[in-house]
Amino acid sequence: MPTLPKFLADITAGSFMRKAKVTEVHYYHESFKKIAFQGEDLKKRDCKPGAQIEPRVSDTDFRHYNPSAYDVKKGTGEMLIYLHGKGPGSEWADKLVVGDTLTLMGPANKITLDTKHKRIVMLGDETAIGTFLFMQNGMSAGQVLDGAVETTTELLHIPMLTGLNLRAVERGKENGEALVGWLRDNLDKNRDALFYLLGNSDVNKLLRNYLKEQNVQGGNIVTTKYWTEGKTGL
Ligand SMILES: Cc1cc2nc3c(=O)[nH]c(=O)nc-3n(C[C@H](O)[C@H](O)[C@H](O)COP(=O)(O)OP(=O)(O)OC[C@H]3O[C@@H](n4cnc5c(N)ncnc54)[C@H](O)[C@@H]3O)c2cc1C
Repeated sequence: MPTLPKFLADITAGSFMRKAKVTEVHYYHESFKKIAFQGEDLKKRDCKPGAQIEPRVSDTDFRHYNPSAYDVKKGTGEMLIYLHGKGPGSEWADKLVVGDTLTLMGPANKITLDTKHKRIVMLGDETAIGTFLFMQNGMSAGQVLDGAVETTTELLHIPMLTGLNLRAVERGKENGEALVGWLRDNLDKNRDALFYLLGNSDVNKLLRNYLKEQNVQGGNIVTTKYWTEGKTGL
């Protein structure tokens, strides 16, 4: 539901959506922001790693963001948002300050974190850092995490700063090239892993095809598209 006429968006926001207040904002970089929020409404539904929320970002637009942390008892949550500067979601997130009210749909539990599979590999871009962090923090003792996040040169330090234990790889001329390179170098030790591919839809396809060519079972690949070049709000 990326866009609705304003009157319908108002009805939706009034009837189905939860409210929370922004309690903290932090710029890890001018194009990467943490937003923490709190509200009694958030105590009504639990939110597991991989769950999605959909804030209202303008009079007419809604965008998906996945919490990077959530505590249902305290009614608190956090999001890590890549400010790419090309759409209303990015503009909204950049403008948010402490005390602002968020109106959001969800949480809806979508991607399930498998806490039994011995090895987990996460591959994605800036938009997936928050989801990966929440998933990493939900893994069981004994599970092994590997993987990489592809970013622009200036954001290479961001995964580490957020506490995400994945290597950052520098985006090349083509989206996804660096992640395929990482896979080439690291597939042997991860053949039996469960792969989570989150981010750009074409990159997800590229990685999935590479894994299938390398005889990784389709059942061991979980994919969710977070954005598509030239398309608004998935
Ligand atoms: C389930 C789900 C969870 C998500 N979780 C997160 C999250 O936790 N953090 C986060 O930052 N994002 C997350 N995203 C991605 C985010 O919703 C998209 O980037 C969305 O397009 C942002 O909305 P917008 O209004 O800024 O841009 P839109 O209006 O949707 O798009 C405008 C233009 O920007 C382009 N664009 C969109 N994303 C990018 C990008 N990353 N890089 C370059 N160009 C882009 C589009 O192709 C389009 O041309 C998630 C998406 C989904 C589906």
